[in-house]
Amino acid sequence: MSRLPLGSTTSLLVLTGAGISAESGIPTFRDAGGLWEGHSMAEVASPEGFAANPQQVWRFYGERRRNMTGVTPNAAHHALVAAEKRLGDRFLLVTQNVDALHTAAGSERMIELHGNLMRTRCSVCDRPSFADTSTYNDKLPTCETCDGRGRKSLLRPDIVWFGEAINPQLMNRISRFLATASTRRTPSGYADLVFLAIGTSGNVYPAAGLVNAVRGIGGHTYLANLEESDNGYQFQETILGKASEVVPALFA
Ligand SMILES: [Zn+2]
Repeated sequence: MSRLPLGSTTSLLVLTGAGISAESGIPTFRDAGGLWEGHSMAEVASPEGFAANPQQVWRFYGERRRNMTGVTPNAAHHALVAAEKRLGDRFLLVTQNVDALHTAAGSERMIELHGNLMRTRCSVCDRPSFADTSTYNDKLPTCETCDGRGRKSLLRPDIVWFGEAINPQLMNRISRFLATASTRRTPSGYADLVFLAIGTSGNVYPAAGLVNAVRGIGGHTYLANLEESDNGYQFQETILGKASEVVPALFA
């Protein structure tokens, strides 16, 4: 198997999706047809669903938080931490996952595009989100920062729900990383930049845009996935296999 071409000035942008965590054993709702206790994902993972029934939404996320007990990062997560230690600021990890396993493994230069299951924020004010393992079975949590106006603001999971936009500051951080990387050139004139997508079909915006953005500035693009993906042709190299096996090998 090929290794990533990482020289002493190469930048590495990594994008991860559900496939990197699959071997860590996170339960999904695929078997239930995407339903949770008969509810659609839109009912338990949207602003409208939260407004209509916050208890139900917190019950859903409380169960997901409990399901993380004993779930640990695998060799693929750890390989990315080692790569970050080696590359420093020439490394950036972007994840579509909310499972917090990259944090648990020790990744720091990281953007969680869709939020973090183990963090909570206010549904009204912009106080910073905070680490939280509570499941709120009995009482809905309220904000201490902005509850002075007669009606207490509810706290909510720090997750980007259906119908919500990704924080533009996060997208700007990716753009800045690519802009800096594109100033470094290989002897043949290409951007000294590698993009590695792991365990994601890459079909969903904005992930789908990253591979094109990197190719647009002349970077080298890799896809590591369990199976062929619909947009695999967009990548220059595809490595099929389990993330916990192929990802460490790419950095060997
Ligand atoms: Zn608040």
